[in-house]
Amino acid sequence: MPDAIVIGAGVMGSSIAYELQKSGLDTLVLDKGEAVGGGSTSASSAVIRFNYSTHAGVTAAWESRQRWLSWAEHLGLEENHQEPLAKFHKTGLLFLEPPDFPRSIFLDLLDEFNIPYESYDTEELARKFPSLDLGRFWPPRLPDDENFFNDPGDNLNGWITPDAGFIDDPQLAAVNLMDAAKRNGATLLLHSQVQAILKKNGTVSGVSLKDGTTINAPIVVNAAGPWSSALNQIAGVESEMAITTSPMRQEVHAAEAPNDFNFDSGAPLLTDLDLGYYAVPKMGGTFYVGGVEPDCDPLEWVDDPDGVSLNPTVSRFEAQVWRLARRVPELGIPTRPLGIAGVYDVTPDWVPVYDRTSLPGFYVAIGTSGNQFKNAPLVGEIMREIISASENGHDHDTNPLTIKCSHTGLDLDLSAFSRNREEFSTTGSVLG
Ligand SMILES: Cc1cc2nc3c(=O)[nH]c(=O)nc-3n(C[C@H](O)[C@H](O)[C@H](O)COP(=O)(O)OP(=O)(O)OC[C@H]3O[C@@H](n4cnc5c(N)ncnc54)[C@H](O)[C@@H]3O)c2cc1C
Repeated sequence: MPDAIVIGAGVMGSSIAYELQKSGLDTLVLDKGEAVGGGSTSASSAVIRFNYSTHAGVTAAWESRQRWLSWAEHLGLEENHQEPLAKFHKTGLLFLEPPDFPRSIFLDLLDEFNIPYESYDTEELARKFPSLDLGRFWPPRLPDDENFFNDPGDNLNGWITPDAGFIDDPQLAAVNLMDAAKRNGATLLLHSQVQAILKKNGTVSGVSLKDGTTINAPIVVNAAGPWSSALNQIAGVESEMAITTSPMRQEVHAAEAPNDFNFDSGAPLLTDLDLGYYAVPKMGGTFYVGGVEPDCDPLEWVDDPDGVSLNPTVSRFEAQVWRLARRVPELGIPTRPLGIAGVYDVTPDWVPVYDRTSLPGFYVAIGTSGNQFKNAPLVGEIMREIISASENGHDHDTNPLTIKCSHTGLDLDLSAFSRNREEFSTTGSVLG
């Protein structure tokens, strides 16, 4: 019998399994899919950035960046290892502001944490980024809006965080973490769908699988990504949570980067709230474009993540790629939609839940709201601390834990991720 079961072999479940196993808990990971990281992790844009609107968000992202930078070490690999590893690419991130943007919600925190950034007015932006059309297009519109192709105004402002970047292969990152967990003794079972959470004497006692197998364990962790809400309902814990999660479909599209503004020429990531998209310049001359939930875009809430079409649609493709093309006029637009769809696991304030639950022994690492891939290296440790303290009688609800981040020395107050927190006032979008 394992000491702990982790449901979900995405980047979160893999990181949690790694930390639990290292801490001495014999850990079993169950995933209904056929590959590690094959859920929402595989669709991730894997952007690593630090502009969050909450203190805890910035702390976790800044600490996690240091872990991505020393990834082999984080995984416990020797210097001469032969493992193919996911890699962090530093590109910087250029944030383009809509009019009257309250920039202090991000910049005050960057100041507080001494995270480098530089602010630019339109003239400086034009000098630094001659390939961009630095007109003001606000507000974001859908392409069928009669004003979509209007001439832009002026006075665009922005700022760049040079230490931002992306991970080149998010699924490989999950595989790296799972392999590290397995090297330490963890076990993985794929094609294993958890169908019921078992209870005995008011505490969790294990799970049963779709094929009828029963596996007993005193600790069960829900790391099921967009499927997390369904599992919480099965466990009977969702009704006591102030913060619940809901799956939301999202598309990310590909377009051809121009020769003078691409990954190789040093193009930064773009977060463009003036037009309503984000874009990642990746290797091979491709820009990947995603959404930032501007008011004009419909939100695609879904009942069942398994029923979601993973193919891009013409309407979403045009909305996102054409917006980028307004900013990057030389962008090559494919003649048919290219890209993928994935599913976010969204909380009302777009801040995740890393916590215990009302069912003793049942824990959750959920609600990652399209913005937590970057924090996966830390989330394993967060969950390990919550689980270890709770199993030893500590009440994390009334006396929330704080952890000391090993790379940055920052304190991270874990009450920020409580299921019973009052909703944060955030951007109300994937930016968190
Ligand atoms: C399109 C897109 C773009 C994103 N871009 C970024 C970004 O740029 N930066 C960033 O930081 N974050 C980003 N994210 C968010 C990030 O990718 C997610 O927060 C992260 O991958 C979630 O990992 P997870 O392990 O929680 O979930 P998943 O990867 O979905 O893993 C959950 C696993 O649970 C399994 N499972 C579910 N139910 C069961 C069950 N009953 N029994 C057994 N197994 C089960 C599933 O098969 C799945 O493998 C993005 C997400 C998407 C979808």
